[in-house]
Amino acid sequence: MSEARRLRVRVPAGEVTINPAAAELIEKAEREGVETAWHRHLEQQPQCGFGLLGICCRNCMLGPCRIDPFGYGPARGVCGADADTIVARNIVRMIAAGAASHSDHARDILHVFELVGEGKTAAYKVTDPEKLRAVASALGIPVEGRSDQEIVRDLAHVLAHEFGKPGEEPLKLLLALAPKRRKELWSKLGVMPRAIDREVNECMHRTHMGVDADPVNLLLHGVRTSLADGWSGSMMATFLSDILFGTPKPVKFAANLGVLREDAVNIIVHGHNPILSMKIAEVALSQEMQELAKKYGANGVNVAGICCTGNEVLMRLGVPAIGNLLLQELAIITGAVEAMVVDYQCVMPALASLAECYHTKLITTEPKAKIPGAVHIEFDPAKADEIAKRIVKLAIENYPNRKKERVHIPKEKMEAVAGFSVEAILKALGGSLEPLLNALKDGTIKGIVGIVGCNNPKVKQNYGHITLTEKL
Ligand code: SF4
Repeated sequence: MSEARRLRVRVPAGEVTINPAAAELIEKAEREGVETAWHRHLEQQPQCGFGLLGICCRNCMLGPCRIDPFGYGPARGVCGADADTIVARNIVRMIAAGAASHSDHARDILHVFELVGEGKTAAYKVTDPEKLRAVASALGIPVEGRSDQEIVRDLAHVLAHEFGKPGEEPLKLLLALAPKRRKELWSKLGVMPRAIDREVNECMHRTHMGVDADPVNLLLHGVRTSLADGWSGSMMATFLSDILFGTPKPVKFAANLGVLREDAVNIIVHGHNPILSMKIAEVALSQEMQELAKKYGANGVNVAGICCTGNEVLMRLGVPAIGNLLLQELAIITGAVEAMVVDYQCVMPALASLAECYHTKLITTEPKAKIPGAVHIEFDPAKADEIAKRIVKLAIENYPNRKKERVHIPKEKMEAVAGFSVEAILKALGGSLEPLLNALKDGTIKGIVGIVGCNNPKVKQNYGHITLTEKL
């Protein structure tokens, strides 16, 4: 039996992506008998109709229960919850998971920020004191005549309370930064968030058996939890990343799978947290590591990013970006990746068995995100440089294991510009939003659209984003 015949399904590569580089590598995967998310998606067909509609519930041991969407079978679960209640509960639990993930990422960055304030790490420092002072001032923390370290300590203290402060007072970041009219509306609806962890916790409580059965009331709490994440957790992560690593400025970079190099050690950083990826990039691009790579027969070390952590290093260091979620497996399938270093979120468990088919070392670094089969090197911000060096060396030492006959790096790559932080936009406009607002008022600019999100094998890769952008 040939390798390719081991796959139970075949993916029509040209139909599932508009990226020729991705199509090339899906075909390579099939020739080599390895599966991708597209194969697993096909194998899942037909996906569970109850799951797709959100009308199954296993929130208690009386279940699992499911509602018949056609009206012939059960209309209520054992406890009496109907389809509206079950759907609302399921959405609220998804919101809880998303808010918990984003905001826990903020908590990890805050931990490093606290270490900086206490002088307990030499690996991280305040890179943007202006931003530090701007955020502190917005929260009412005195900045005049004070050192960065003093301000960091006070700011860290205030932000730490965003997660679990007692009382009914809304979140401080939201109060300080959200527009007045939004805050009035949220107050009227009773959705002003009080503390991040509290809202996530309350999602779990309300959706438990026999608690909140009112779908509107449930969804309003989902809104409150999202606001806690958006206006505090996620915003905190961005602010602290800017303070520690620098507020992004427009930067040119190269993107797509063609950024991998045949002649260099390729290290991919993947996940969401810049605390790790910035260090890996910094160490990998150092003269010492570039020289070490030469001793192993490579022409230096190349770092590339995937998903949000890739975005963090590209915005601040101009590190090339491979792309988003669906390219993580394809990057390994090039056969040219010595190490994929991951933290958390959007990291497919499939990477471990896939890496075994090539010479790639999949390195997990987070105690809260391990993958069976991966090499686990726990990242400790207090020893960041030492650990980053160990990881980069492991990748370099792996270069001689690359099987040259299996390497195929697509040619596709393009130049792009990223790094449009609020500060960078304001600077480009001459320090005020006035020119932009005037252009909106007189109709020169019809509107502003944020296109946010990632890929899903359910739809043609990148088609939605690109088509929408072109139409706009
Ligand atoms: S909470 Fe109600 S609908 Fe959900 S599993 Fe329990 S009994 Fe069934």
